[in-house]
Amino acid sequence: MDLTDRQFERYARHLILDEIGEGGQAKLLAARVLVIGAGGLGSPVLLYLAAAGVGTLGIVDDDTVDRSNLQRQIVHGEDRIGDSKVESAVDALAGVNAETRVVPHHMRLVAANALGLIDGYDLVVDGSDNFATRYLLNDACYFAHKPLVAASLLRFEGQMSTFKAYGGAGPCYRCLFRDPPPPDLVPRCEQAGILGSVAGVMGTLQATETIKEILGLGDSLSGRLLIYDALAASMRAIKLKRDPDCPLCGAHPSIRDLSSHK
Ligand code: ZN
Repeated sequence: MDLTDRQFERYARHLILDEIGEGGQAKLLAARVLVIGAGGLGSPVLLYLAAAGVGTLGIVDDDTVDRSNLQRQIVHGEDRIGDSKVESAVDALAGVNAETRVVPHHMRLVAANALGLIDGYDLVVDGSDNFATRYLLNDACYFAHKPLVAASLLRFEGQMSTFKAYGGAGPCYRCLFRDPPPPDLVPRCEQAGILGSVAGVMGTLQATETIKEILGLGDSLSGRLLIYDALAASMRAIKLKRDPDCPLCGAHPSIRDLSSHK
C-alpha cells in the first residue's frame, strides 16, 4: 500500500522513525482494533489510535455520557451529556482523523456477542470498569487467538498487561486471578474514586502497547504487569507466570467455551 501525499505529511513524525517508516504506517492504516468502553481508559486509547492512523476502530459501549464522566472521559464534551457514548466518540474521532473508520457497537459485551464482535478485529483493548467484562474478554480473546491489552484503575493507581496466552507463551488473566471476586467486595470508580489523569496515563500506555503489538516493536508486555502509582510517582513491572493448572489456558482446562459467563 502506497501512502498518499497527505498521509506523508500527516504521519511525518512516524515515518521518520526507523522502527515505523512507511511499512509500519501502512500496517497501522490496515489495522483493526476493538476498544471495549468509551470511558476513562477508552478515551485516550481511541484518541491516540485515531491520531496514529489506525485504519479501523470499533467501540463497544451501551452507556450514555453523564456529567460525572467528564472529569476523565476526555473524548466526550459537555455538549454530549445524555448522548450515547459510542456516538459521541464517533463524532469526536471524525474530527481527529477523517481517514479512520470508526465502527460503533452500541451494546453491552456479553457471552452471546463477544466472539462475533472480536472476530472482525486484529486486537482488543479492554477499557471496561468491571470484573465480569474483564473475565469474559480474557476468555473470549483466548479462544479467538486475539491479543488483549488490558488495564484497570483504582484511586491513584493503574495496572496493565497484555495477554496472548493462546500462543502458549505468556499467562492469561486467570493465571493471575483464577475467578472474579464477589461483586460486593469490588470497589468501582463511582465508589472508590479515580484521579482522572491516571486514567489518561494508563489509556495512553494501552494505546502505545497496542501500536507496539501491531508493529511487532520492542518488548511485549505479555508476561509482565505494569503498575503505576501516581502518589509515589513510580512505575514498575512485575513478572507474571503462566499457571500450568489455569482453568482456561492450563494443561487440563475446565473452561472450554463462554457458557460460564452470564
Ligand atoms: Zn491462564
